[in-house]
Amino acid sequence: MRRFLFVGPSLPDAREHAGDGIRILPPVKAGDLLALEPGPGDVIGIVDGLFHQVRSVQHKEILYALQCGAAVLGAASMGALRAAELAPFGMRGVGRVYADFASGRLTADDEVAVVHTDREHGYRCLTFPLVSLRYTVERLVELGRMSPREAGELIREMRAVHYMDRTFGRLAGKPLKSAWIDAKKDDAILLIEEMSKEISPERPDVPNTIYLHAWRLGQEISGHPLRVFQLFGRGYEELHARLVEDAIRDECASRCGPEAPAEFPDPVLNHACHEGYLTPGDTTLLPRLRPWLTEAERTGEPPAILLRKAVTRAFRMLPDVTPDAEAARRLRSPQLQARARDVRALATAINLNAESRLPGFSAERVPDERLAQLASELYGVRRDELEIAARMRGIPGADVLLAALRPYYLLAKYNPETVALSLDISGRNP
Ligand SMILES: [Zn+2]
Repeated sequence: MRRFLFVGPSLPDAREHAGDGIRILPPVKAGDLLALEPGPGDVIGIVDGLFHQVRSVQHKEILYALQCGAAVLGAASMGALRAAELAPFGMRGVGRVYADFASGRLTADDEVAVVHTDREHGYRCLTFPLVSLRYTVERLVELGRMSPREAGELIREMRAVHYMDRTFGRLAGKPLKSAWIDAKKDDAILLIEEMSKEISPERPDVPNTIYLHAWRLGQEISGHPLRVFQLFGRGYEELHARLVEDAIRDECASRCGPEAPAEFPDPVLNHACHEGYLTPGDTTLLPRLRPWLTEAERTGEPPAILLRKAVTRAFRMLPDVTPDAEAARRLRSPQLQARARDVRALATAINLNAESRLPGFSAERVPDERLAQLASELYGVRRDELEIAARMRGIPGADVLLAALRPYYLLAKYNPETVALSLDISGRNP
């Protein structure tokens, strides 16, 4: 049985509280729970989580951990929020902050948000969480050291301030210090106590939706050579389109059978009819499919081709049908794998070099704006067409595309010929 605790600024000295039985991990972000490969008997505690700078931990991911038989507990901060949202599905909340979110007494995410230094600098809080101020003035009112009116005004005043600006300096002159309640710390300690007890997990039955599936797969392949080919492989769009078409044909064969009507000469379009997406002779169709086609395509290609492209891109795979697994299989030749690894190694080397020479530069912090510009040049589409460009390469969305591109930014921008990978997948060429 393994125990993990995601914690940061709420309890910087968590290690001392947790003892040896609990592995301390930094604040949770999207993907971290899946990376643990949760299993029966595992206990996962969530206190702190990142939410602004990166994608926050996904609800589906927590449900997945529960479904795998792990117990997931939350408290104090991000953990309390998620636990309040997911309590009906078996996530357990601990402590006062959780109870107040669960009862609806607290509603805003920013009650627990703080600005803090990073791990290297001890997770020092530079602002206070509103919830701590709330609990502190409540105590002062109980003790008769603050009037309810004064307390109400102070809360209203601070609630109007953005959480990033809730510095301790703003509280100067108020009689708070001696009564200060560190709400998040108190609850984080409670969570650790709870995690040390015997816990029997509840296993909810969570539908394995297309979103969770696509997302898990995205996690699994984020460090996989397939991503490199999706990003840079010449002709990857064609490969992906072919794989999707195969999947559509398979789905039609198993679901509709050979007797299903065939109004079009194209099996892909026929299956779209069977599924109710297409009606033969419907003239409003192409205008409705606009979002799935680039400007260049719309103005330069015949309607039958456009229809097929749009249907292929809009097609939602069943959770257990994925072109990615097949793509990975077809791209498994040792030469291609080696090329992908070379590109990755080169990108890493260039990033490290730039980071050592340019103070403040970090490949992790290349702005989305620049990535979008690069992607637009790389794929020959407009900035507002990146969603299509991503879909064409089997990547579930523009945000995933940009995130995947980030480590390759310098390499792709300044050495475009290096990343232009040719995909010899036909087996016919030497
Ligand atoms: Zn069909």
